[in-house]
Amino acid sequence: MAIDFTQYIASYENYPEPGVLFRDISPLLENGDAYKAATNEIVKFARERDADMVVGPEARGFIVGCPVANELGIGFSPARKQDKLPGEIVSASYDLEYGQATLCLRKDAVKKGQKVLVTDDLLATGGTIDATIRMVEELGGIVIGTAFIVELEDLKGRDKIADYDILSLVKY
Ligand code: AMP
Repeated sequence: MAIDFTQYIASYENYPEPGVLFRDISPLLENGDAYKAATNEIVKFARERDADMVVGPEARGFIVGCPVANELGIGFSPARKQDKLPGEIVSASYDLEYGQATLCLRKDAVKKGQKVLVTDDLLATGGTIDATIRMVEELGGIVIGTAFIVELEDLKGRDKIADYDILSLVKY
């Protein structure tokens, strides 16, 4: 029977600032069966699309992507915030409510033609995942899908990445 992951998502009003309803995946991570079941769903999605690499943005994209990559026996590369990655990098900026943020990826992270799954904990406006996708594609990777634990449908992130397959386990 399919597991209802909603019970493992905690909600906090007005965090980290007034007006934001924060959806926290920590209870899911803290429950071995739930974390494994969520990982299994994403592994299935990735396997069906023949992924051979996983990329996820700092920090919770790592928590979602690493166990998937490990289970599939494929690599994971972290998309990190500015000034965290040494060596040659590519970067992509995206808009926040106030200002901008930048993510970086190692130039060697993705090989041309590699089939890449992009993961994060949550899809909101889609800015974070879109920036990550742009870097993967700049390196010649083919994004075979994106996977999230949570999707906030009102924020329409799905529209921003409409060209890609999207898996989200819990929708609000
Ligand atoms: P966005 O770029 O707007 O799609 O935002 C997604 C990123 O911001 C993810 O990495 C989330 O961890 C974080 N995020 C945005 N909104 C929320 C929220 N309401 N609750 C928890 N995390 C959020």
